Amino acid sequence: MNRVPWRHSLVTRLLATSVLIAVAAIAATAWLATRTATRAITQEQGRSLTDDKGVYDMLVAYAAGHPDWSGAPEPIRLRAAELGRRITLMTEDRQVIIDSGPGPSLRTARPSAVVDPLGLDLGLTGGTDRIDARAVGPYLLPAAERAALRSGARKTLNCLTELGVSGRIVDTPSGRPTIELTSTDTEGAMIRCGAGRDENPTATEQRALRTLGTMTAGCLGRRDGTTVVVTPQFRAYVLSAKQAADRRVAAIPAEQIADPATSARAGSCLEKSRRTQLQPYVAPPALLFVTDPDTGADRTTFTLTRENTIRIVTVTGAVLLATIVVTVLAGRRLVRPLRALAETAGGPEPAVVTGRDEIAHLARALNASARQRRAMVSDVAHELRTPLTNIRSWLEAAQDDLAPTDDQLVALLHEEAMLLQHLIEDLADLAAVDAGTLRVHPEPLPVRDLVDQVTDVHRGTAQTAGVRLEADVSGDPIVSADPVRLRQVIGNLVSNALRHTPPGGVVTVSAHDHTIEVRDTGAGISEENLPKVFDRFWRADESRGRATGGTGLGLAISRQLVEAHGGTISAASTLGRGSVFTVRLP
Ligand code: ADP
Repeated sequence: MNRVPWRHSLVTRLLATSVLIAVAAIAATAWLATRTATRAITQEQGRSLTDDKGVYDMLVAYAAGHPDWSGAPEPIRLRAAELGRRITLMTEDRQVIIDSGPGPSLRTARPSAVVDPLGLDLGLTGGTDRIDARAVGPYLLPAAERAALRSGARKTLNCLTELGVSGRIVDTPSGRPTIELTSTDTEGAMIRCGAGRDENPTATEQRALRTLGTMTAGCLGRRDGTTVVVTPQFRAYVLSAKQAADRRVAAIPAEQIADPATSARAGSCLEKSRRTQLQPYVAPPALLFVTDPDTGADRTTFTLTRENTIRIVTVTGAVLLATIVVTVLAGRRLVRPLRALAETAGGPEPAVVTGRDEIAHLARALNASARQRRAMVSDVAHELRTPLTNIRSWLEAAQDDLAPTDDQLVALLHEEAMLLQHLIEDLADLAAVDAGTLRVHPEPLPVRDLVDQVTDVHRGTAQTAGVRLEADVSGDPIVSADPVRLRQVIGNLVSNALRHTPPGGVVTVSAHDHTIEVRDTGAGISEENLPKVFDRFWRADESRGRATGGTGLGLAISRQLVEAHGGTISAASTLGRGSVFTVRLP
């Protein structure tokens, strides 16, 4: 047997399939893993950014209210423990002020932020003012002023409440109470209650603002008596000496007489002065580091290290290798019995069958088919031999003058020749069936005509056998069938029935709709033999069957013909009573 080239081998195909599956599985898993890891890291980084911002806010708040960092270590330590991070504060020349815990050196690290309430990181606060509102310094109201403002605010709020406007009192960082309204459309009520009356600066605020004005004027560097007036909203108005005098006399608000252009230019000086003014009250600027206590990294980072890459490649390779080894082993196991089968298929010995899988089934089927083929050949040889032996022995007897060369001999020889022809025709039909070349040409066929033809043909035989042959067709059924082939089938059934029915019996051919029945009152067929009647060369009684001209192929051929029409043929019988053969056409 030729070996299958490896390209076409089942093992190769199996291998290709499983490697493909393995690669797809690995790729899908890797994709999923990176996706999940990336998402986790993004979340982690988002979280650490929020953490950083929280720490920054807390430290700015502390710095705004304290002149130095001496009280901060405890809150920083607590916050660090809570976040599981290391928080470090350094001066701008990298001297550690506070460190929540040990860890890698941060000398060259990039700070998360600079904590300076007078120079806020607007990217972190999201505000517009670089100076934190909580840095109040000299603007902090003493208790007395606060109480006075508070009682005023409460009165105003009561008045507003009566007018149906709701609100509440909120203190600014400097301790100034303000009314925060919770209703809308309140302008009328505000005017009626005189809200805003208390917005004038208190003595403390006036003092601080005046100092700020002087400082700003100094910053502007004008020696000509220029005065700078700063409002509680920290807007600066630059007044000339004359304007300042006018304002003092007539109490005109500075914003009405100041030169807008000059005032606008004073902005940066004002901010600088504000910073100078607040500086003694706030903690000095510090670099903030929020880091991982172990790695010192400021963010959780995701990089594929060399070891990780090697690990991934190794695992992938191992999975692929395992796939290949397992597939090749399994494939060879699978292919081995197939090879053995292919080798024995052509030979005389049946294949050895082990196991119960599909291959074992295939092997059994092949064995059975080989057995049938062998049986068929020997059956054919046997069937041909019998009539030929008869012919030969009669002819030899005639030659040797043992038998007379008369009409009787000729009739005997003729009969055997007919049997041979019959047999060969049947074999040709079977061969056509096996080769798939048996074609039927269906056409609309009146069943009544068909039954009449068949009974007419067999009338003579029936009379000789002393059997009554009857036809019983109800209605005028029409079937779609090949007339020659269907006649062959029904004729075969009738001739079988006549042959197996003793004199005095009845054979009835009946038909209704698409069903044709041939019923006899003959010998019948035993229950165990009934399934075999359609087998090739099967006869209940060999010698008798052959003697009456049967080939043992008639029913096998009939079944093939009916099935070629898309119909079915079945037999029912009671031993000693008779048989019924039923043909059903679609
Ligand atoms: P054969 O040419 O020998 O009749 P068939 O295939 O037509 O071959 O029939 C096979 C066998 O079935 C017959 O030899 C016979 O034993 C049995 N058989 C067929 N028809 C009948 C019947 N009507 N009554 C009893 N036995 C039958």
